[in-house]
Amino acid sequence: METLKWNTEMDGRLRAFVTSGKSYGQIAKEFGTTRSAIAGRCNRIGLKASSQPLPPKPDMPLEYGHVPPVQDPPPAGVTFRQLRDSHCRFPINNGKPEYFFCGEQQLPGESYCEFHYFVTHEVAANA
Ligand SMILES: [Zn+2]
Repeated sequence: METLKWNTEMDGRLRAFVTSGKSYGQIAKEFGTTRSAIAGRCNRIGLKASSQPLPPKPDMPLEYGHVPPVQDPPPAGVTFRQLRDSHCRFPINNGKPEYFFCGEQQLPGESYCEFHYFVTHEVAANA
């Protein structure tokens, strides 16, 4: 195959093909030459064909993570007189003259509700 003689007009076409996103192979067909001839010319005049187009960057929404809701202590509470067998026995100081207890449903076999069960066991574990 005859070596392609490049001129400014052809360089202009080459540049147009490259910038329009054609691959070296496609441009080679346009010029009736080989892919390597196109690649060599592009290299010489500083062109780069987008034979491997960059994958589009997905717009990743910022995830702030699913923060588990902070477990609040159950709202107080019941007085001693209101206290029943199934009520959590965790004492709560409400600043009121009468002593309040949690009053939430006890865990089976425990004196405390789920929240205070873990509170008391964490305290015990850290002691
Ligand atoms: Zn409780």
